Amino acid sequence: MQAVARSSAPGGGPSVESSPAPGGGSGSSARVLVIEDEPGIVDFLRRGLEAEGYAVESALDGLDGERRALGGGFDVVVLDLMLPGRSGLEVLASLRRARPALPVIVLTARGEVEDRVAGLDAGAVDYLVKPFAMAELVARMRAQLRSIAEASSTTLSGAGLDVDLLTREVRRDGEPVALSTTEFELLVFLLRHHGQVLTREQILSSVWGYAHDPATNVVDVYIGYLRRKLARADGSTPIVTVRSVGYRLGGAEE
Ligand code: CA
Repeated sequence: MQAVARSSAPGGGPSVESSPAPGGGSGSSARVLVIEDEPGIVDFLRRGLEAEGYAVESALDGLDGERRALGGGFDVVVLDLMLPGRSGLEVLASLRRARPALPVIVLTARGEVEDRVAGLDAGAVDYLVKPFAMAELVARMRAQLRSIAEASSTTLSGAGLDVDLLTREVRRDGEPVALSTTEFELLVFLLRHHGQVLTREQILSSVWGYAHDPATNVVDVYIGYLRRKLARADGSTPIVTVRSVGYRLGGAEE
């Protein structure tokens, strides 16, 4: 375990701190840039995020924040909207143009410009209304980082299943399973949302992707195909029906 040098820079200059990931086993800790002009909030964010194993840097105005975010090296940006120098919305627009995949979590005051932020949504933007709990910010951050990691990963795993997105090979408990193209796409969607309840509408629009007759039972039909192919010898299946809602991959059967 290496010693951690801490330098704080009073007066608004750049300050860099790093912390090892908790447990030390997972390797790199994600790097967060906090762009926020209220020192109290910066301090709150820094303490909370470092306790979660993130390496935190902060910028106290929009110009410095934008410059550093565009300079690269960050996995996620936490961006206040009301900033001196350059507004959060201007910084956001510039980041979306130059680094569309960089996750940004926007902090807004209630009723401020939430709809404008939502209108700018490019998939990698989430926002939190002040005051917010640290646990909520950390949860949003994890979700953003996970979706980035999954988007760049070539394998998906969960519920005893392993899927190789390049070779399109599927294994259940290590045994190969042959799936049709649609069954494969359905399984990938379920795995990307492992443990999450998905409605038929969500599945339909994501896997089939066309305007559909709401009465269609195509989702149930394909879930049935997939279940049969993934069933273990004892008949158990990783796909759970959530009554009157939809389906979930993984978790106890209901
Ligand atoms: Ca502010």
